[in-house]
Amino acid sequence: MKPQTRKTYVSETVAQLKPSGIRRFFDLASSLEGVISLGVGEPDFVTSWSIREASILALEQGYTSYTANAGLPELRQEIAAYLRRKFRVEYHPETEVLVTVGASQALDLALRAIVNPGDEVILIEPSFVAYEPLVVLAGGKPVAVRTSGADRFRLDLTQLEQAVTARTKAVIVCSPNNPTGTVLSRAELDGLARLAQAHDLLVIADEIYAELTYEGEYTSMAAVAGMRERTILVSGFSKGFAMTGWRLGFAAAPEELLQAMLKIHQYAMMCAPTMAQYGALEALRSGERDVAEMRNSYRRRRNYFVASLNEMGLPCHLPGGAFYAFPSIQPTGLTSEQFAERLLLEEKVAVVPGNVFGQSGEGYIRCSYASSLEQLQEALKRMKRFLARL
Ligand code: PMP
Repeated sequence: MKPQTRKTYVSETVAQLKPSGIRRFFDLASSLEGVISLGVGEPDFVTSWSIREASILALEQGYTSYTANAGLPELRQEIAAYLRRKFRVEYHPETEVLVTVGASQALDLALRAIVNPGDEVILIEPSFVAYEPLVVLAGGKPVAVRTSGADRFRLDLTQLEQAVTARTKAVIVCSPNNPTGTVLSRAELDGLARLAQAHDLLVIADEIYAELTYEGEYTSMAAVAGMRERTILVSGFSKGFAMTGWRLGFAAAPEELLQAMLKIHQYAMMCAPTMAQYGALEALRSGERDVAEMRNSYRRRRNYFVASLNEMGLPCHLPGGAFYAFPSIQPTGLTSEQFAERLLLEEKVAVVPGNVFGQSGEGYIRCSYASSLEQLQEALKRMKRFLARL
């Protein structure tokens, strides 16, 4: 009997995933000449020379084979020492630390390791664009809890608690946040901890921007009393160490969870790239001063950029971390898509419309200030001209 012809070979889950809203703008931006991009979430620094050199040396020495599945033992030791030094959390390097292909893979592994079909995972919107599709791909159900610009995107613990059901497995939090730059306060962390304990939830803490915190000391979710046991800490080298192209990140979690993630990782990925792991080792051993310099540079640009946005009539809170400003465009009466599209076509400045980060991002745009001061000045000039014409 002749089999019935399929309409598509693509799985229903994948077919139903929305394409990234950011992509459309990048395709449009790359088709135009002379565009200043405040769109990408990427440092404008080249990775420090000592890190590149360590990786080159590893290649020269012929370290070109696989590493242990969980990553080079000495790198895992350095990661554990780094987490102890910076955030005062203790992880066993052999059983509780996993080196991954970017924080992206750590997030994917965390979700796939914990989600049963239909389990709910709470996301705090506006949120990083990958969380929702990763939850869906893991077979889970994303549940959005909104935050509001009027409240500087602070976490509303009452709303969060109302979103918890018997099926809720975990909450994903991102601090400093992409796209809002908001850093969870001590009270929010404590509240979240109480809630996670009361409802027996895990927290997937995306701390990829922790090194780029501009006010006060950073508190890791895992450092809050009682939280180490229910936190999967996700971080990496892309942002703080300016290593996006190296594709290197890590996860730290209690042994049972970390080993479940490793089980997937050993089949799906084998290990993270070897030469990148040697670079990361050097980053943790000697990178602190360069990170501090980059942080200071972003801080200066943040202060200038956010003050300029406010002056031109786009109200913007001072973000505590990351390298994004998230101003309101509500005074213009345009939707965030309209604003971003017209700004791109009329003035050749690329920003990301806030609605791609969830409904509560509507009325806002995300501008990355990880660009040179000259580029920021020119972009601000163009934005001002655009606003004057509206
Ligand atoms: N989490 C957040 C919040 C991010 O903004 C990004 C990068 N845009 C990632 C994770 C992924 O980072 P990596 O390059 O380490 O995969």
